[in-house]
Amino acid sequence: MLERIRALREAFDAALPAATDAEAIEALRVRFLARKGEVTGILRGLGQLAAEERKEVGKAANELRQRVQSGIDQALEQLKAQPADERHVDITLPGRRPWRGGLHPLRQTELRLIEIFQTMGFDLAYGPDVELDDYNFKALNFPDDHPARDLHDTFYIEKDVLLRTHTSPVQVRTMERLKPPVRVITPGRVYRCETIDASHAAVFHQLEGLYVDERVSMADLKGTLAAFARSLFGARVGVRFRPDFFPFTEPSVEFAFSCAFCGGKGCRVCKNSGWIEIGGAGMVDPEVFRAVDYDPERFTGFAFGLGIERIAMLLYEIPDIRFFFENDLRLLEATW
Ligand SMILES: [Zn+2]
Repeated sequence: MLERIRALREAFDAALPAATDAEAIEALRVRFLARKGEVTGILRGLGQLAAEERKEVGKAANELRQRVQSGIDQALEQLKAQPADERHVDITLPGRRPWRGGLHPLRQTELRLIEIFQTMGFDLAYGPDVELDDYNFKALNFPDDHPARDLHDTFYIEKDVLLRTHTSPVQVRTMERLKPPVRVITPGRVYRCETIDASHAAVFHQLEGLYVDERVSMADLKGTLAAFARSLFGARVGVRFRPDFFPFTEPSVEFAFSCAFCGGKGCRVCKNSGWIEIGGAGMVDPEVFRAVDYDPERFTGFAFGLGIERIAMLLYEIPDIRFFFENDLRLLEATW
C-alpha cells in the first residue's frame, strides 16, 4: 500500500507542471481527490487494514492528500495571477483598434463658423427653441397678417407660442439685454413645416450675425462677409449682393460667394453660374430698433443669416440635406 502511495505521489508530481489551464487542473483534482479519486480510495480503504498498518498508511495517505490539495491550490493561484491576454491569445498579433466616434459634420461646420466669427470679435448668443410669437415675428417687424409670415410655414404650439422659424429672435433677446455696441452670432436649430426634399428639412440649423453700433454701414457688412468667405473657402473668394426682401432689414440683400470649386468659371456645385448663394443680410430696420428701445437716429447695424447645412454640404460635398439626419456611419465616418 505504501508503495502505491509513493507511485501516486510521483505521478502527481510529474503531472502538475503540465497542468497550466483550468481544465487540466480540474482533471488532476478529479483524478486524485474527487469522490472516486485515487487518494480518496486509499483513505476510504484504511478501515480494512490491520491497526498497525493503518496508522502508517493513513499518515502517508493524508500527507499525499495534503500535497495534492496544496499543489492544485498553487496551480490555480498562478493561473489567476496570469494576465487574461496571455492565457489563450497570441500576443504577437497586432491589436484590435478600438472604434472611435467623432463630431457630426454639422457640428464640425458650426464650430468652424463660430471660430471664424469669434476671431472677428463676435460673441455667442443662444435662445430658446420654443419661442413667443412676439420675438419670432412681432419684434422683427412682421405685423400680424403680414404675408412674410406665410413664407415661414410655422409650427405653432399655442396661438402665441411656436417653434422658432429662424434664430433672429435671439438677436431681439440680445438687444433687450445689452446696450450697443452689440456684436453677436446666434447659432441654433430652427423649425419649418416644409415638405422634405434634397434641399429642405423641417429641422435645420442657422447661424445669424448682428452688429449694432454708431455709424455701422453696408460696407461693414460686405467687409465682414468677405472676410468670412475668405476664411472658409480661400483668399480668392468674392462676395456678391443682390436686392432681396426681409421684414427686419432695410435694405435687404441675398449674398453669394464666388464658386471656390471652379474659380467662377461654372461647375456642377454652382450650377454653372459661378456663384453660390449663401444667405440673406441687410441693415437692421429702424422698427426693430424701436421694439428693443434702441435709438434708430443714433445707432445703425447689420444682420446676416445663413444655413449651416448649406455650408456643410459645400464643405463636404454632400448632395442631399437628408443625409445629415440618417446617421449612416459611412457618411459620418467620412468627415472624421
Ligand atoms: Zn462652380
